[in-house]
Amino acid sequence: MPIRVLAPEVANQIAAGEVVERPASAVKELIENSLDAGASDIGVEVREGGRRLIRVQDDGCGIPPDEVRMAFLRHATSKLSTTEDLGHLTTLGFRGEALASIASVAQVALLTRSQGSDAATLIRVAEGHEVEHSLVGAPGGTTVTVEHLFANVPARLKFLKQAATEAAHIQQVVTRYALAYPERRFSLVSDGKLLFQATGTGKLFDVLVKVYGLEFARQMIALSADGDADDGPAASLHDRGGPAVSGYVGAPALHRANRGYISLFVNRRWFQDSSIAYAVVQAYHTLLPVGRYPVAVVFLEMDPQDLDVNVHPTKAEVRFRQPNAVFAAVQRAVRRTLVDQAPIPAAGGSVTAVPQAWPQETPAVQVGGGWDARRDALLGAGHARSEVQPSFALHAAGTPDAPPTASTGHDTPPERAPLLPMLRVVGQLAATYIVAEGPDGMYLIDQHAAHERVLYEQMLADHARRGVASQPLLEPLVLDLTADQVAVAAEELALLGEMGLVLEPFGGSSYLLRSVPAILAGSGQPERAVVEILDGLAQRDNVVDASHEARAITAICKRAAVKGNSPMSLPEMQELVRRLEACRSPRTCPHGRPTMVYMSAAELARQFGRI
Ligand code: ADP
Ligand code: MG
Repeated sequence: MPIRVLAPEVANQIAAGEVVERPASAVKELIENSLDAGASDIGVEVREGGRRLIRVQDDGCGIPPDEVRMAFLRHATSKLSTTEDLGHLTTLGFRGEALASIASVAQVALLTRSQGSDAATLIRVAEGHEVEHSLVGAPGGTTVTVEHLFANVPARLKFLKQAATEAAHIQQVVTRYALAYPERRFSLVSDGKLLFQATGTGKLFDVLVKVYGLEFARQMIALSADGDADDGPAASLHDRGGPAVSGYVGAPALHRANRGYISLFVNRRWFQDSSIAYAVVQAYHTLLPVGRYPVAVVFLEMDPQDLDVNVHPTKAEVRFRQPNAVFAAVQRAVRRTLVDQAPIPAAGGSVTAVPQAWPQETPAVQVGGGWDARRDALLGAGHARSEVQPSFALHAAGTPDAPPTASTGHDTPPERAPLLPMLRVVGQLAATYIVAEGPDGMYLIDQHAAHERVLYEQMLADHARRGVASQPLLEPLVLDLTADQVAVAAEELALLGEMGLVLEPFGGSSYLLRSVPAILAGSGQPERAVVEILDGLAQRDNVVDASHEARAITAICKRAAVKGNSPMSLPEMQELVRRLEACRSPRTCPHGRPTMVYMSAAELARQFGRI
């Protein structure tokens, strides 16, 4: 056969295969058009999973009569005119192929009335050819009806699944846009049944309730350190040049068998990205059972210039200019939210909500001037704190009384509800756990994990103030390091120096140790401590906060914290618990493991058969 240019309808049909894979893809394109048209009410109706009929009705701007025909031409669009426009797209569509593609594989009727025209235009296109063009009466907005999808493409038709499956795909598409546009109304009717409705309240949480149900939505945590995700992107986390991250993530108890419950959006566009989904999964490290996946709805807000959405005809994939920054921003935002909100695991293994503070009502067990007074009494009429001489460093030297506030400083709300109730130390168990009483039950605290948390927040705060105390050694020590340790030491020399750990290359695999962080000063055998820290860094130990400093600090604190199997005196335990109470994220150690488990008074009563 000689080479020929394909007839437009043939070319369109071939191209349609890329854009319209199944009924849900047509629904997606039509909804995007309605959103781009500024519609506030979008109604979707399908029959037989969309194969028999798809109808999308909107109250958007409509198409002027003289442009209606153009809408069905390939590469005809009102959304962009130059290649530069691709760099700052604010519309969902831009390729100008959807209507042309759909019309080449189905019978399409488009009824539209634009603002300012008295009559609506009705145009019918069947398999690429216009069959009707008339003026009719209709309300403002656009209705697109797609019938007999793929009737002329038997190969496609063969691959369609059962109507119920296709309808489920369509529902997924509609719910995604409802999540991304909570201020717009959406409805989906399938074979006469209302499958989904979002009422356009503008609150993301309301849509979550519609999509997942109230019980489920209640277990979702707003992704934001300071604000409510419903307050929009302004209140979301902005991470050093990365995208703003907002949305909701499921409490760890809400895990699922696959990643299908992780929904990602960038600039309100749903997208697929296994790497970013992995950032979410990774943020749950140690919080989920192996092989289970979290639930999340994550929104990224970023400059359109840092984003390429023109990767694939269906626009389901995007390319980030700085994928690593996006990954880190998502991972941090999710992790921080989880760590801040993580409930304390119940002693039995399940998770119980824990009282955040002492009840207002005076509990029966209370004595004298309340727990504060009672605790002070235990500590020795308020003098005890200064008399306490812990045998281990509870706080970084140099700033003993600075409140260990933020892990990052900038995003700490000025006042916050206490994350832990005040606890009364009862004693120590197995020289490893602190037994404490809270307002409504018993707390078992892992002394090592708790101390790690306290030192970690202290040191991060000190570092942010450039005030990490360092202790010079009387005589520098020569360390002979392994290859792995040398690699870490060489790479992290400056950072470790900032943390008070001063190493100096001494030829070959030897390093001179000149100073150690003050929190390590009393620990004896500083060379062993430093080697363990280098090993910890080499292992890329999983750390909550993925920043470089945080990793170094975690490695140091892990070594400096009091170990399990170390007897502690009552004042030492009281001091540790007091400092833990003041922490920003007291319920988990820097690795994300719990610092404590909890058994409620009610559970104790149940176990003893009292109720
Ligand atoms: P694209 O969305 O990429 O521009 P489409 O083929 O989806 O390409 O649509 C072509 C054009 O038709 C759009 O650019 C828009 O001007 C117009 N259009 C399509 N659907 C609607 C709608 N629901 N409301 C208003 N205009 C629409
Ligand atoms: Mg479009």
